[in-house]
Amino acid sequence: MSDIQSNISADEALQRLREGNERFLHGEIRLAGQVREQLKGLEHSQQPFATILGCSDSRVPPEVIFDCGIGELFVIRVAGNVFSNEIAASLQYAGAHLHTHLFVVLGHQNCGAVKAALTNRDQGEVHRSRIQLLVNSILPGLPPFDPGLSPEERTTQAIESNIRWTVQQILDTPEAQLRLKEGKVRIVGALVEIKTGHVKFFD
Ligand SMILES: [Zn+2]
Repeated sequence: MSDIQSNISADEALQRLREGNERFLHGEIRLAGQVREQLKGLEHSQQPFATILGCSDSRVPPEVIFDCGIGELFVIRVAGNVFSNEIAASLQYAGAHLHTHLFVVLGHQNCGAVKAALTNRDQGEVHRSRIQLLVNSILPGLPPFDPGLSPEERTTQAIESNIRWTVQQILDTPEAQLRLKEGKVRIVGALVEIKTGHVKFFD
């Protein structure tokens, strides 16, 4: 377990992610062919510059869409980028031991987990037992809909709300409150557009 202090500020980390996503969008991948080389020197420690809580969906791998290599991102992936005690523990590890200052909750368009929560709430569909458990953790963050919205607009709004709901739950933890008081940490939501891979940061 390493306690190297990260020198990378939250703002600088966010800038790196934006630039990585730009490279990805323009097909200018920085690390092609060098991934194994990056393992050198990492056998005893790691110093990722950001922590990502993303969805497990196969179309949104954070390292790829941010053009980051081995050792650069601390990534937690779970369907629907939901919050739980185990996720909180991983986030706390990233903050306390790896000293990342930036935490990103990364949702995406057409998220199946959020859609499952919508069919549960609005159409009464009950999912298989463990999937329903996951869905239950999404339900409290779903917004009431304006009746004028199209189904697509409702899904988009629900996905954005789910990202903000996870951000809010992280913000509400005592450890996040403590670290935010220090003024170094940022917790931001972001949305991946599946068709292009473009990441829109909420802040
Ligand atoms: Zn998803």
